[in-house]
Amino acid sequence: MNCPGCQSTAVEQGFDKLHGGEVLLDVCHACHGVWFDAQESPQLSSTGVLQLFRQMHGKRSARTELVHSLKCPRCPAALTRTHDMVRGNRFQYFRCPSAHGRFVTFFQFLREKGIVRSLTAKELTELKKHAQRLQCSDCGGPISLHQDSACPSCHAPLSILDPAAVGMTLEDAKKAAAVAGAVLAPAVAAQILMDTLQMEGFYRTIDGQAQQLASVLGTGPAPAGDQHRVESTLEAVETGIDLIDLGMDAFFSLVGSIGDLF
Ligand SMILES: [Zn+2]
Ligand SMILES: [Zn+2]
Ligand SMILES: [Zn+2]
Repeated sequence: MNCPGCQSTAVEQGFDKLHGGEVLLDVCHACHGVWFDAQESPQLSSTGVLQLFRQMHGKRSARTELVHSLKCPRCPAALTRTHDMVRGNRFQYFRCPSAHGRFVTFFQFLREKGIVRSLTAKELTELKKHAQRLQCSDCGGPISLHQDSACPSCHAPLSILDPAAVGMTLEDAKKAAAVAGAVLAPAVAAQILMDTLQMEGFYRTIDGQAQQLASVLGTGPAPAGDQHRVESTLEAVETGIDLIDLGMDAFFSLVGSIGDLF
């Protein structure tokens, strides 16, 4: 299927469904979007949500911009931009007027599931001490913290992964896996995760990236010799730091070190 968001080829993949079975979703790594056929989104289990995390993680190279007018992949109709709110979290998606399904970016999906939340004014003030430039987690555009408190191009609010929500999703997935007889990460994982993903953890990471850059530019101590880290640091500084990417990195470095979840 061609991705309705950017017309690249989307890959159909199976994800765990509530009460067993699989939900087939069309995932696009070019624009970080997902096409849900009618009723597929509410059917994803917690494990399915985490599987989608894994699919999206590490494939967030330069993002293809969304086309101006999105078309339904199942009929000739144009998709309608729709705003919605769940538990105080605003999000948007594009739906087919004939109810064939909807297209949502990964970032908006996380907002819908309550897994990311907007930064508080206090967090924003603190963040400005550590970073000047962010990358929008939705469209990939630059956000200057001096002027903007939301993305100037797509208006997505500055958001971070909500550690409590990620922890709960992890706990739910663990319970489901225990019922199914699978071996999963120990209970302590969710708690450590919550500690790691708190804002202090973000600041340490952001400061770490700034230090790495200083060493790359020859204004600080030599880098640890990890070429990949140096490259990703340079890339992060050029485009700005993506707070959701940072959260995902923290999440996978943690669950990866405790054991393979899936
Ligand atoms: Zn796409
Ligand atoms: Zn349609
Ligand atoms: Zn944006």
